[in-house]
Amino acid sequence: MDASVANAKALTVGPIILLGAPGAGKGTQAKQIVDRFGIPQISTGDLLRDNVKRGTELGKQAKAVMDRGDLVPDDLVCNMVAERLSQPDTSRGFILDGFPRTVKQAEWLDHLLAGKVFENQGDRKVPPVVVNIAVGYNQLFKRLTGRRMCPSCGRIYNIYFQPPRADELCDVDGSKLITRPDDSEAVISERLKAYERQTLPLIDYYRGKGQLREIDGDRDPSAVAVETLGVIENGNRL
Ligand code: AMP
Repeated sequence: MDASVANAKALTVGPIILLGAPGAGKGTQAKQIVDRFGIPQISTGDLLRDNVKRGTELGKQAKAVMDRGDLVPDDLVCNMVAERLSQPDTSRGFILDGFPRTVKQAEWLDHLLAGKVFENQGDRKVPPVVVNIAVGYNQLFKRLTGRRMCPSCGRIYNIYFQPPRADELCDVDGSKLITRPDDSEAVISERLKAYERQTLPLIDYYRGKGQLREIDGDRDPSAVAVETLGVIENGNRL
């Protein structure tokens, strides 16, 4: 490991917020950031799916909403995020993937971040780096309908852009790949509508605060990653 890469794992990065429609590649980019900086990825979609799988009270309340492609109520999601952000592994920073999704959630997050203490920062507040990954509608639709996941190791494939070596089987462990229930065509168009209605206004919200960084996500994921990591490294403090 070269010095700068080793150093990146000791830096206080602060909050990274990944904005973008479903299928924009937030999860893929988050994994690159985790590898570079060693801060956790907090995906509200993953946390909610885990609650559904474990049959928790939150999971029971969220399931029907998720199945129809709508957004889970703000208070439920915010409580879940508050609990996650209170854990010690967030002390150098964290990546929010899929949160905030409404202006209400963004305002709530601003309030929480105003009181959040980061390692080696004393009382200094660390503003978020907000990255919007922009991708056109047709490309999003293809990415979502083609998405497959390994139920054992969680690896993501796409039958159009990143197919597994053997048809519908995971390259790593040979499990039969699955389609997420909310990646069916009918639910995808609902999810994209929910995005336009409730999440697009966030772009203006963060632009107005001077915190928005825009990235063209209609490219190869590695090219998007180079730019995303650059934006974070050249952010206001690293
Ligand atoms: P995702 O994996 O980010 O596409 O999220 C899957 C589903 O989880 C969404 O379609 C919503 O139903 C729900 N969800 C995830 N994050 C949020 C959030 N921040 N606010 C409300 N609902 C959410």
